[in-house]
Amino acid sequence: MINSLRTTASNPLTLLESTSTLKELHQIHAQLIVSGHLRHPRLLAKFVSLLALSQNTPHHLPYSRKILNHSPSSPTTFALNNLIRAHSKPPFNPLQAFNFYSQILHSPSLSPDNFTFTFLVRASAHLTSAAIGAASHAAALKRGHADDPHVQSSLIHMYSSFRSSTACHRLFEGIQDPDVVMQTAMIGAYAASGDIDVARKVFGEMPHRDAIAWNAMIAGYSHVGRCREALELFSAMQGESVSVSEATMVSVLTACAQLGALDQGRWAHAYIQKKRIQLTVTLGTSLIDMYSKCGSVDRAMEVFKAMPEKNVYTWSSAMSGLAMNGAGKQCIEVFELMEKEELEPNEITFVSVLRGCSIVGLVDRGLEYFDLMKSKYGIEPWPEHYGCMVDLYGRAGRLEEALQFIKSMPSKPHSGAWGALLNACKIYRNIELGELALSKILEIETMNDGAYVLLSNIYADFGNWKGVCSVRELMKAKGVRKEPGCSVIEVSGLVHEFFVGDKSHPMYQEIEVMLGEINWKLKLAGYAAKTNEVLFDIEEEEKENALIWHSEKLAIAYGLIALKEGVTVRIVKNLRVCWDCHDWTKFISKVFGREIIVRDRNRFHHFKDGVCSCKDYWRVRLEGFNELLLGKFSIVQWARVNLSYHSRKYINSGVYLKLGQKKERKSEIKDRSIPLAPPRPSDARVPPDHHLTHGVPSDHHLKPGVPPDHHLTPEFCQTTT
Ligand SMILES: [Zn+2]
Ligand SMILES: [Zn+2]
Repeated sequence: MINSLRTTASNPLTLLESTSTLKELHQIHAQLIVSGHLRHPRLLAKFVSLLALSQNTPHHLPYSRKILNHSPSSPTTFALNNLIRAHSKPPFNPLQAFNFYSQILHSPSLSPDNFTFTFLVRASAHLTSAAIGAASHAAALKRGHADDPHVQSSLIHMYSSFRSSTACHRLFEGIQDPDVVMQTAMIGAYAASGDIDVARKVFGEMPHRDAIAWNAMIAGYSHVGRCREALELFSAMQGESVSVSEATMVSVLTACAQLGALDQGRWAHAYIQKKRIQLTVTLGTSLIDMYSKCGSVDRAMEVFKAMPEKNVYTWSSAMSGLAMNGAGKQCIEVFELMEKEELEPNEITFVSVLRGCSIVGLVDRGLEYFDLMKSKYGIEPWPEHYGCMVDLYGRAGRLEEALQFIKSMPSKPHSGAWGALLNACKIYRNIELGELALSKILEIETMNDGAYVLLSNIYADFGNWKGVCSVRELMKAKGVRKEPGCSVIEVSGLVHEFFVGDKSHPMYQEIEVMLGEINWKLKLAGYAAKTNEVLFDIEEEEKENALIWHSEKLAIAYGLIALKEGVTVRIVKNLRVCWDCHDWTKFISKVFGREIIVRDRNRFHHFKDGVCSCKDYWRVRLEGFNELLLGKFSIVQWARVNLSYHSRKYINSGVYLKLGQKKERKSEIKDRSIPLAPPRPSDARVPPDHHLTHGVPSDHHLKPGVPPDHHLTPEFCQTTT
C-alpha cells in the first residue's frame, strides 16, 4: 500500500476504490493532508463524496462524515448532496439524510439544488412515514425543483413505495414529455399497485425502451403472478437484442418457479451460463428456489453446493426447498452445516427447519430449535413458527402440548395454528379438541371467502357431501366468487393452461381421445370414479355433469400425448387437487408406468407406481367427525353465527337464492392469467437506481425476500409429507 501510495502520490484518490481496511484509509487521508489536497474545498468535497459513495467497507461512510465535520472550510452542496445520496438507501439510516439537508438550509452560502431533492425524496421513500415524503415533495415544489426529471422520477418511486398509485398517476399525468426514466418508474409504480395492464400500456407507448424498462415490465408481470406473460416478454426482449442482466434473470426464474416450468427454468439456467451472467448470491438463490418449486430438489442442491458465496437467504431457500419436497432429514443437516459455518440464521431459516423437523417427526429437536431461535439468536417467533410447532406436536399425537403452544402465542392465534391442531385431531380422533379448533377457525375466517372453501374441504375430507353441497348453495346465495381451477403443464418450453371443462386447447380432440383411453385402461385396473366427490368438490369449479373434466386431468392427458415416453409429467395447479383426481393420477402412474408430479396449492404430490408421496395424509376420514360436522357445526348453525341477516334468511327459509351472479365466460377466464402463487414480497418492481448510478445494479430488484415455500402454506399449515 505504502509503495503504491508513493507511486500514485499525484492522485491518491484513485486508491480509494481498493482500500478495504481502516489503516489503508488513514494512509490515504494522511497523504492527502501532506500533499495539501484537502485545503481546496472542491478537492475536499470530492474526497468526501468518493468516500461516502464507495461503500467498500462499513468504515467509509462514517469516516467521510467525520472528515466533513472536522474540516476547517465549510462543506459544499456537492459534498452534502452526496452524503444525502449515500444515506438514501439501506443499510444506512435514511433519516440521517435530513441532517445534511438541514445543514444546507442553515448555511448562508448554500442552497439545495435538484440533486439535493432527488436524493432527499429517495431517502424519504425508505421511511415508513408518508408525511415525511409529502414534506420532501413540498420542499422541492417550494424551491422550484419539483419539475426536474430526476426529482420527478424519484417522486414517482417514492409514492409507489407508499402504495399511492393515485399520487403517482397524478404526477405522471402532469409531466409533459416523460423520458424513459420516468416511464420506467411509472411502469414499476403501476405494477406495484397491481395495475399491470396500465403498466403494459405505458411500456407499449414508450418510443424508446432500454433494458431497465424491459426489466421493470418483466418484473411487474412476475410480481403480480402473470408469469406466462413475463416469459413471453422475456422472449420478445431477446428478439430485440436488448442486453439481459442479472435482474432480468431473477424475474424470469421467479416466473418459472411460480409456473413450475422446469424446462424453461433449466433453459434460463443454461442461458445464464452461456451469457456468462455472473452467478451472484441473489441469482443463485433464485435458481435454488426455481428448482425446488419445480420439484427438482436434487438440482437445487447441486446449485446450492456449487455456489461460492451464500447468504442467509441462500441457506434458507435450500432448507425450504428440501422441506417442501419432503426431505426433512436433509433439511436439518443443512441447518447444522449452517450453524457450523457460523452464519446467523433468521426467522425464515427457522420456519424452514421447523418444517423439516415436523416432516420427520422430530418433536424434541424442533422444540430445541424453537428455544434456540429465541435464546441464542434473539428472534421473536412469528405466528408461522407457532404453527409449525403445533403441527410438530400434532403429528406426534401430543395434542395437549399442541394446544398449550397455541395458548402461549403472544398474539391472537391464526387459523393456520388451529388448522394444524384440527388436522392432528382428525388423525388422533380427539373430537373435543377438534371441535374447539374448528370453531376457532370459522370464527377467524368468517370475513374471508376462504372460509367457505375451508369449510367445504373439511366436509369433503370426511365424505360429507351434503355439507359440501350446502356450502356451495350458500356461496351462490352470497354471490361469493371463487378462483377457477387451473392446471399448467409445460411442453417443449411452452406453457399450456387448462381450466375445468376447457375445450379451447388446439389439440382438444386428441386430448378427449386420450382421456377415453385412460379411463378404459384405468377401469380395467380397478379404478372407479368417485362421481359424488367430483360433483361436489368445491375446490374445482362446480361440475355440472360427469363429462366435464377437472383441469389437472386435461393437463395430464395432454402431457401423456405431448411428452416423450418416460418423461415425468409435471403439473402445477392453483387449487387443491380433489380426491378423485388424486386417485386417478395414482392409477395412471402405475398403469402407464409414468411418474407424475403435481404441485397443488398445498403441497407436492410425487406419483409413482400407484403411490403418492403425500401418503394421503390430507384425506383422513373418521366416523366421529361426521357427527361433529353434522351436529354442532352444521352449515346452518355456522351461517347463523357468522353470516349477515340476508344470507341467514335464505338459509333459514331453506331457500337459496341465486343473486344473479353470472358465470364467468370462458373468454374472460382465459384472458386473466391465474396467479398460481402470491407474488413474493421481494420488491422486484422499481428500478430507480439504475439510471442514476450508471450501471451499478440496484438491489431493489434483487432482494431474495421470503423463502419459496410460503405460498405452499396450506390451509392447515400442513406441509408436504
Ligand atoms: Zn379433480
Ligand atoms: Zn398426493
